[in-house]
Amino acid sequence: MKKVRLGRTGLMVTQTAFGALPVQRIPVSEAAALLRYAFDQGVNFFDTARGYSDSEEKLGAALADVRSEVVIATKSFAKKEEQLLRDVEASLAKLKTDYIDILQFHNPGFIPKPGGADGLYDGIRKLQDQGVVRHIGITNHKGSLAEEAVESGLYATLQFPLSYLSSAADFALVDLCRQHDVGFIAMKALSGGLITDAAASFAYLRQYDNVVPIWGIQRRQELDEFLALEVDPPTLDHGMLQRIAADREDLSGSFCRGCGYCMPCPVDIPISMAARMSLLLQRAPYQQFLSEQWQENMQRILDCIDCGQCRRACPYELDTPQLLRDEYNRYWDFAEQHGVPRP
Ligand code: SF4
Ligand code: SF4
Repeated sequence: MKKVRLGRTGLMVTQTAFGALPVQRIPVSEAAALLRYAFDQGVNFFDTARGYSDSEEKLGAALADVRSEVVIATKSFAKKEEQLLRDVEASLAKLKTDYIDILQFHNPGFIPKPGGADGLYDGIRKLQDQGVVRHIGITNHKGSLAEEAVESGLYATLQFPLSYLSSAADFALVDLCRQHDVGFIAMKALSGGLITDAAASFAYLRQYDNVVPIWGIQRRQELDEFLALEVDPPTLDHGMLQRIAADREDLSGSFCRGCGYCMPCPVDIPISMAARMSLLLQRAPYQQFLSEQWQENMQRILDCIDCGQCRRACPYELDTPQLLRDEYNRYWDFAEQHGVPRP
């Protein structure tokens, strides 16, 4: 399996890496078997987070006995040093390890720096000095913050959304990371499920040898698809470029990427799905979204109290409440066309 150097960490990681957010949704035994299968097939890089409920625990169950053969990246949402230390202690216990290869600040709204009143950067450096954290990384959804982190020289890795739908400015970050020898970990390479052509996505990102996509995997079938692409890498040919261009046209502009940073909503609207429902209806098997449960979920949009919390939290600066209202109408137009009456 192809390995690449992850920036100045010097770690050699498989360019097909395992994003362990989706394993939250499956039972421990199933998740552990899937993670172990990935390892047995040669995957050596696994990304998780303190905030992904029991994902770290599942990694611990699957990989504790082969710890030295894998690279584990996790994340903390901590806003203060004390919380960071508590998070790291919990991560170590769940992962059944005494060190974390890459500890990332999880999508902070500012770039932690030495001497900051929050104590975050000084705290993580202490952990690094103790050998508990090997490398310091950061994740972000905002281009300006990502750029600041890379240019600060304080971070060995940047995790940022990147797919063939990304803008030229996002791809400029890839170059910036190369210049500063920062490892680029790509999240949302399938744009939160909106890209359905895994081969095109794989081939497109393979053009960048300093980019390591972490594919979010929940089923063996999904993993097998990426393993097969690794064995027989697809060529970015004319047909594929045409499909990518068509997708870009369909999905250009202000669309919800499903990142979930605007949640939870005080009236329980499942925003990360509801705000891109019309795209999901076109791009995924739509029947699942016409279930009674989803009809009820979409009805909740009418309960929006316009508190503005989601709008403020959205890293893509979307007018989320308006987007939800538009999606509500599109949803019921679609449902009616498919024989489901509007309430
Ligand atoms: S504005 Fe509406 S959708 Fe957004 S968080 Fe508030 S209640 Fe939820
Ligand atoms: S509305 Fe914005 S913050 Fe919320 S899920 Fe979509 S992209 Fe993410």
